Amino acid sequence: MLINDGIITPEELKCALPPEERYKKGPVAIIECLQDIPCDPCVSACPVKAIQMKEGITDKPVLDFEKCTGCGLCVPKCPGLAIFIVQKNIAPGKAAVSISYELLPIPVKDQMVTLLDRAGKEVGEGKVIRVINPPAYDKTAVVTVEVPEEKVMDVRAVRVKSGGQS
Ligand code: SF4
Ligand code: SF4
Repeated sequence: MLINDGIITPEELKCALPPEERYKKGPVAIIECLQDIPCDPCVSACPVKAIQMKEGITDKPVLDFEKCTGCGLCVPKCPGLAIFIVQKNIAPGKAAVSISYELLPIPVKDQMVTLLDRAGKEVGEGKVIRVINPPAYDKTAVVTVEVPEEKVMDVRAVRVKSGGQS
């Protein structure tokens, strides 16, 4: 539970999730920022103004799932590494998650990496399908991994396997 150990439970996450129908339209941001904190770079990062804070900078971000294009520009701008892009059904039984990554080495496309859940527990392995790391992202790469569809709401970090590529 968020208030006890900082780990969001599936029940707590419900308020941050789009309706199931939205996933059929393509990638969408999941903003796992559920506490009132003085932070708002996600708001200005969004080119279509899909993120709002009704009560100002200490409010929680609220995402308009219909406006969100899933572009991912908000992901590297979040200092809390709390924004993910989820795309379901990229292939039969497969989904994709885009995740901020600030460690070295940065994974590369087609590399197999260890998939971790919110608690850092290993939940499998997945293939990196995209890495975006331009200077504008200021050393926060955005790594997209292919994951089993049923794990798309569990995978929230990746770890490069020791020995590099596999
Ligand atoms: S993914 Fe793109 S459109 Fe969606 S909230 Fe983030 S910046 Fe805005
Ligand atoms: S930038 Fe990240 S941590 Fe800050 S309010 Fe937005 S989602 Fe929350």
